[in-house]
Amino acid sequence: DLIIKMDPEMDSQLKIGFIGAGNMAFGIAKGILSGESGKKNLGNTGREVLSEGVKDLTVVSTVGNVLPVNVKVSAPSSRNLGRFQELGIAVTHSNVEVVCGSDVVFVAVKPHLVPLVLNEISQHITDRHIIVSVAAGVTLATVEELLPENTVAIRLMPNLPCMVQEGALLFARGTHAKQEDGALLRSLLHRCGLVEEGPEAWIDIHTGLSGSGVAFVYLFAEALAEGAVKMGMPSALAHSIASQTVLGAGRLLRDSGKHPAQLRSEVCTPGGTTIYGLHTLEQGGVRAATMSAVESATERARELG
Ligand code: NAP
Repeated sequence: DLIIKMDPEMDSQLKIGFIGAGNMAFGIAKGILSGESGKKNLGNTGREVLSEGVKDLTVVSTVGNVLPVNVKVSAPSSRNLGRFQELGIAVTHSNVEVVCGSDVVFVAVKPHLVPLVLNEISQHITDRHIIVSVAAGVTLATVEELLPENTVAIRLMPNLPCMVQEGALLFARGTHAKQEDGALLRSLLHRCGLVEEGPEAWIDIHTGLSGSGVAFVYLFAEALAEGAVKMGMPSALAHSIASQTVLGAGRLLRDSGKHPAQLRSEVCTPGGTTIYGLHTLEQGGVRAATMSAVESATERARELG
């Protein structure tokens, strides 16, 4: 029989709410629900594991496991809600309902809608709540000003690969958010990818490095593939090899813990192909252009904030 063991420290009783049902809310929700057993089986939810009818399986929940029944999402229309329902998440059109039924509330609407939403939910916030804003450019000061005094608020900047549990997330705690609130958020999000904490001033840098950085890597992947097409390889094959190359290089970089320069030099045979290619890239100013790209994206994030 299927036994689901509950780790006493787990967050399974924690109620999680999302205001806004866009890509970012979905990416985070998917990450939160992707338990270890789910990863190995059917993309999580526990319900799927149950319906498989697996015998003699013990699923040991790890700290931070959240069940879909404890998650709720709201949005004005139904167009984005279906995919949440497929994960077993309850949906509603009422933001207030989400707040009243949740301990941790992710505010995941477009930045210009944040004041509207916070005004709407403000009177329903109690000391039970942790409010996590993911809206780009909306400062903790703005969020705190719109919420009751002493509200625990956290600003979180995720990036798109949260969708595949490989995000890079940085959060900053507000005036009333304690270290343990940060630890709870970290534990909740650890399956979304890398989760780090820093001062709020780093959020804009993180936006340039990682939020926008994803697009810089896509541009590089596209150019790699186009180079291969230029040399005569069919486009579809060139693109799939380019994406695998980016993935493989990224995993090796992360998992080895080595400095990129070290890995790069390990690929360079003296007089070989790689050093010839690298010389061409340096002549094209790729390094300086990439540094400037992070700088201008960071500055733009500061301007918008
Ligand atoms: P999105 O896909 O456009 O989704 C926005 C969601 O907000 C939609 O589900 C929309 O409802 C809902 N909404 C609109 N008005 C609302 C209201 N009054 N109350 C409740 N929900 C409302 O946006 P997104 O890309 O997920 O971005 C959400 C936030 O994440 C933004 O603030 C953005 O700055 C931040 N962010 C995004 C990324 C990214 O890569 N996408 C990265 C970092 C941060 P409908 O479904 O009815 O349209």
